[in-house]
Amino acid sequence: MKQLQMVDTKSQYLKIKTEVDAAVIAVMESSRFIGGDVVNGFANNLGTYHQSKHVIPCANGTDALQIAMMALGLQPGDEVITPSFTYIATVEVAALLRIKPVFVEVDQKTFCIDPIAVEKAITPKTKAIVPVHLYGHAADMEAIMKIAAKHNLFVIEDNAQGIGNDYTFSDGTVKKTGSIGHIGCTSFYPSKNLGAFGDGGAIFTNDDALAVQLKMIASHGQSRQYYHDVVGCNSRLDAMQAAILDIKLKHLDEYIAARRKAADFYDKAFANNPKIEVPFRATNNNHVFHQYTLILHDTDRDALNKYLAEHDIPSMIYYPVPAHKQKMFDIFEDNHYELPITDWLTKRVISLPMHTELDEEQQTFIAQHVIEFINKQA
Ligand SMILES: *Cc1c(COP(=O)(O)O)cnc(C)c1O
Repeated sequence: MKQLQMVDTKSQYLKIKTEVDAAVIAVMESSRFIGGDVVNGFANNLGTYHQSKHVIPCANGTDALQIAMMALGLQPGDEVITPSFTYIATVEVAALLRIKPVFVEVDQKTFCIDPIAVEKAITPKTKAIVPVHLYGHAADMEAIMKIAAKHNLFVIEDNAQGIGNDYTFSDGTVKKTGSIGHIGCTSFYPSKNLGAFGDGGAIFTNDDALAVQLKMIASHGQSRQYYHDVVGCNSRLDAMQAAILDIKLKHLDEYIAARRKAADFYDKAFANNPKIEVPFRATNNNHVFHQYTLILHDTDRDALNKYLAEHDIPSMIYYPVPAHKQKMFDIFEDNHYELPITDWLTKRVISLPMHTELDEEQQTFIAQHVIEFINKQA
């Protein structure tokens, strides 16, 4: 059996090696390492795939979120409503800009921000909602967009884990997650569903004026070379990463299908086990399974994590400490939240290996060990 990994980027690379190697060599021969046709070409292709009018490539997903908040003109003291059950990057950038993250609950089933909790948390200082399509399942965007319209708020989608998810509105309209809010952000971190061979990120918008701001801020606030109109930053996707990503983009739908197939296999293996709750899939979106995350009932989750490790099966806890309990937010005086669902999930979730290269032999081995441990505990 092939060695088990959370993500097998090597096997995935080997399948497209010839094409990728040639594209990287072509960039080296052109010596156009920053900007240029390769980066622009990839941005165009990504915009077409993603149904977004503007794609602004940048250095990573964290920068994408930061640039989004800057472009919307959010100021120190403003509030953004976000889930606490997320990766730290979503909320760290707000704190960096001294914008206050207001943490709310997630839906216990989807792991994504609860629209009812969002509406309750709105104050006169609220400027934006930042839903996260956690693990690849879409947040309830229809409800979130309605709340945003009603209260005149911006929506910034953290689509780092959700790229490629098709979200269907009740009127039948289908949109990609990340193209629904005012701005969408994504990451090309190697383990992401569309992963580079290094860091990378992108910002999406359909708003022409916002696109100008986003581009300007990502490039030292310059409106034309050496004319700096606003305070910006330096955040670029380099040409080698763009060349690789452009090839992988053509395979993205196939990669998503492989992840969904692996998820189906796990679902079947764990069916009818009362202690194992498999990932929920709402019918209005196409879960892209960035992670395959179980909720364990009446089980010593950390002991399972250890047991699996002893059998060379990696598993991860995404994330062991929710954002509202992270020390970094002590900089905000009233950083006190009661988020029982978030705390409950934090203690019970476990993510199993999930990637495009899993085979049935590997998945059978993983599932057998999970079930074996759980039965032994009973
Ligand atoms: C990966 C990730 C980010 C940050 O992306 P980087 O490219 O690592 O900066 C932000 N939000 C979520 C939900 C992520 O998973």
